[in-house]
Amino acid sequence: MSKLLRPARVLLLGPPGSGKGTQTARLQNKFDLCGISSGDILRQHINNGTEIGQMASSIIKTGKLVPDDVMIKIISAELALRNWLSPTKSWLLDGFPRTRVQAEKLDEAELRPADARLNFVVELKVPTAVILDRIANRLVHAQSGRVYNLTYNPPKVSGVDDFTGEPLTRRPDDDPDIFAKRIEEYERLTEPLVDYYKKADNVLWSVAGDTSDVIYAQLEKEVVKRFGDRV
Ligand code: ATP
Ligand code: MG
Repeated sequence: MSKLLRPARVLLLGPPGSGKGTQTARLQNKFDLCGISSGDILRQHINNGTEIGQMASSIIKTGKLVPDDVMIKIISAELALRNWLSPTKSWLLDGFPRTRVQAEKLDEAELRPADARLNFVVELKVPTAVILDRIANRLVHAQSGRVYNLTYNPPKVSGVDDFTGEPLTRRPDDDPDIFAKRIEEYERLTEPLVDYYKKADNVLWSVAGDTSDVIYAQLEKEVVKRFGDRV
């Protein structure tokens, strides 16, 4: 585990299937940095059958986005609960903000008043053909959110989770038609955030690659460069 010398407040941006969850997990293993994933939080609500979960489930099934006000409430509560609204804390967001309204609200209502604005926004660039291939081969352990890929990262025993032995499933929204809709929603609503964060000085950083290994190697180097690190 490496220590960061300066607080890192990180957002990972990238199309569905670009590996945000994988990069988050690897950064968390390497640095003393916690992350939250809006998709994982929503899937937990769905598994637990909460009111938010029931609403989210019907929306996610169609490939559309959950309404901004619902997402803002969920994430604001999470930031407060974790005590992250402080200029000294390091953390990472995967999947939120995902629209201009979410980004503005997060800045204005939460981060700016706490003097804790995002200082590193990572844009993951992965060719669409690679993404489509990954999704076709993706299996998940629904309870934990662990992700497997039949090609790059298969489970030790076919069809079951390495840690619990429970069955793996496909995410319902990985169905090809719904996945196409998610890509479309990304291009329409989330990609414009790249321009939003471009305006902030030196915060946006783009990284391209066909594999998560290639991307992670560059990402780790950049984190060390920006936020220092001692072993
Ligand atoms: P992947 O997990 O493959 O990277 P993704 O980023 O599209 O793909 P998740 O982040 O897991 O997937 O999100 C799944 C779904 O949850 C989205 O399609 C959307 O419906 C909903 N969702 C997640 N985060 C948000 C958000 N910030 N705003 C609105 N809806 C969201
Ligand atoms: Mg994800």
